[in-house]
Amino acid sequence: MDHFEYRDGVLHAENVPLDRIADEVGTPFYCYSTATIERHIGVFMDGLAPLDATVCYSVKANSNLSVLKILAANGAGADVVSGGELTRALRAGMPPGKIVFSGVGKTEPEIRQAIRADILQINVESEPELEAVNRVAGELGKTARAAVRLNPDIDAGSHDKISTGRREDKFGVEWTRAHEVFTAGAALPHVELVGLAMHIGSQLADLQPYRDAFTRLRDVTAMLQAGGFEIRTLDLGGGLGTPYDDTPMPSPAEYGAMVREVIGDLGCRFLFEPGRVIAGNAGVLVSRVVYVKEGATRRFLILDAAMNDLIRPALYDASHTIVPIAESADKEREPADIVGPVCETGDTFGERIPMPDMNPGDLVAFRTAGAYSAVMASTYNSRALVPEILVNGDQFAVVRERIEVDDYLARESIAPWLNG
Ligand SMILES: *Cc1c(COP(=O)(O)O)cnc(C)c1O
Repeated sequence: MDHFEYRDGVLHAENVPLDRIADEVGTPFYCYSTATIERHIGVFMDGLAPLDATVCYSVKANSNLSVLKILAANGAGADVVSGGELTRALRAGMPPGKIVFSGVGKTEPEIRQAIRADILQINVESEPELEAVNRVAGELGKTARAAVRLNPDIDAGSHDKISTGRREDKFGVEWTRAHEVFTAGAALPHVELVGLAMHIGSQLADLQPYRDAFTRLRDVTAMLQAGGFEIRTLDLGGGLGTPYDDTPMPSPAEYGAMVREVIGDLGCRFLFEPGRVIAGNAGVLVSRVVYVKEGATRRFLILDAAMNDLIRPALYDASHTIVPIAESADKEREPADIVGPVCETGDTFGERIPMPDMNPGDLVAFRTAGAYSAVMASTYNSRALVPEILVNGDQFAVVRERIEVDDYLARESIAPWLNG
């Protein structure tokens, strides 16, 4: 469910027609709906009741400060994967006691930042990292709370590039070594091991891989508890899919029921790190048709948005539903290849997509572009960095400006010896 609907023939974000935003701020731009974000976080939290659960929204899905602020106001904390994301989460007012820090390559400055901010826990992914946390905490005269991320050796069954829980993936500590790592951790004076963490992948369309992974986690937890280790938190990661097309996805309620059934009775506090399922459907990318080109064998709609603005199709073979902003009365549809202007064949958003008759200047929207979209934008081809707009009821605001070539050229210089 989202709040992007046609009214009087024009696609709206809540009560704001998207063509009005396009006229005022230019294209391309991302547009997020406050009501949709609020709905998704609410439904997710309801699905987990009555577990003792804290939702740590995965900031990397959409790290816009206003988006984080909405989530914080609705009771969410944050899962961050860099010092930069930690800075954002704190700036958006997320309480440190609801922030976890994930990722395989945290540097000492990042660990220092996390310990100084007194976040809930650092999820460590290797023994060298555990030792680094101990060392940095010792230097600061503190004790750091840490959880051990386990690699359960479960295939999430989603796209290869977003599966993270297989043995050969770089993430986590092999699950069979949990006791060994906890024993080593117990000998470190500046680390308090508080729990276990897991995250098996993204865009999961099926609960079975979770069921398998959480069964494994349950066994490891019970084994550690029997060995005298206290396991206070179990961080179950994120990964629940969002519908990009008609593929049905498990609901947060079904997910929550499965968690309760498989692992709910261990007396632990649960942490969840949803990203995509919160932000995915809460955003669209709006773009204008620059040219309609009749190729040798295909019709091309050439847009002013490109792979630098939305890389998911090129990177993950993802497909976004693309719709005209002005609803077409004509029911006729002709196949078109929808492409951007960047000089790469990979700059293709969709092939042979049934589209109504479109003309230069017409607007289109990419649905489900709220997650892993604006956050991955770049300035490739020296294009502008795409802006982000937030809608709330009747109002909208530019929450990240378009960063133009002159803005970033101001930080680029010619080596002194080249200036003759
Ligand atoms: C990316 C990530 C998430 C969020 O995944 P979604 O599929 O967006 O829910 C959660 N936890 C960790 C450790 C991650 O790396």
